[in-house]
Amino acid sequence: MSIAVQFQQVSRHYDQVKAVDDISLDIAEGEFFSMLGPSGSGKTTSLRLIAGFEQPSRGSIRIFGQEAAGLPPNLRAVNTVFQDYALFPHMSVLDNVAYGLMIKGVAKAERHRQAEAMLDMVKLGAYGSRRPAALSGGQRQRVALARALILHPRVLLLDEPLGALDLKLREAMQTELKALQRRLGITFIYVTHDQGEAMSMSDRVAVFNKGRIEQVDAPQALYNRPATAFVADFVGGANVFGQALASRLFAQPQAFAVRPERIRPAAQLDGDVMTVEGRLLDIQYLGATSRYEIDIAGEKTMAMVLPNAEGASQWQAPVGEVLAVAWPRAAIHPVAE
Ligand code: ADP
Ligand code: MG
Repeated sequence: MSIAVQFQQVSRHYDQVKAVDDISLDIAEGEFFSMLGPSGSGKTTSLRLIAGFEQPSRGSIRIFGQEAAGLPPNLRAVNTVFQDYALFPHMSVLDNVAYGLMIKGVAKAERHRQAEAMLDMVKLGAYGSRRPAALSGGQRQRVALARALILHPRVLLLDEPLGALDLKLREAMQTELKALQRRLGITFIYVTHDQGEAMSMSDRVAVFNKGRIEQVDAPQALYNRPATAFVADFVGGANVFGQALASRLFAQPQAFAVRPERIRPAAQLDGDVMTVEGRLLDIQYLGATSRYEIDIAGEKTMAMVLPNAEGASQWQAPVGEVLAVAWPRAAIHPVAE
């Protein structure tokens, strides 16, 4: 398996701001790789470093084994899809898609033939003569994809490409993007702040926090074995008990996380469990599940998520009541703080 993109101790600092701070990373050829993290965590900067729009302050980036320093963006085997599409409004959809070939001097008939094929691939074969303004948001995003893919990049960089779409369209596009990546077999590097999006599409996910990577893993491993308190919380919203609280309430020597869906009213569990009392703050009915917010000793709000069986009403307790909740001891994940 060859490495498509490699970061070796890469930093990008803007004066005092450590946008990217000592990142090392291997992204394999053919991977669907996501960079996940909150706003300002360094995802876009990392993508721009790969694309060549930014240079590292320190460290080195290799693309298919070649040192990228000094290589201008157009000589890198990568292309980018931006959130705002960046389509040319005065050009037809077909000419937008053919643009990269025009710059390369490909004759009109040939570039139109290739652009038609790309439009077919993103299911927009009938839309070539329209202007971008006459398309929906999802269709524009597919035009942007076709335009980026027409130059056959070995790596496609996508920066929150679905951010402007509504939920239903976003989910449909996630399925399409994943299918497209499989079919083309090229490397996708996908930036998002949406953990559901990263988890549902990716082979592996890097979780960014303050310019650093906290963990790189497959989605299931991130969820089942979060390495840090930040990852446990950001991916799947685990309840994290810091070392002080873990030791005081549970005589645990180390900070740990426990998923809201592993927690039950204490009366419903037996065996080797951990139990705690808390005051019910709120119940949120979410359809398939209900979410209970519980205050623990005035120091921590924890969440319990219970399934709502079809037809049955949700588990009830009056808000304000003190109740005991529990979880299997085997359900906790020790985490670094
Ligand atoms: P993300 O994409 O994860 O939201 P960015 O990579 O855009 O994060 O930004 C990371 C940090 O670097 C932020 O604090 C941002 O304000 C800062 N930053 C990014 N680009 C520049 C720049 N050109 N000049 C100064 N600060 C920047
Ligand atoms: Mg960004």
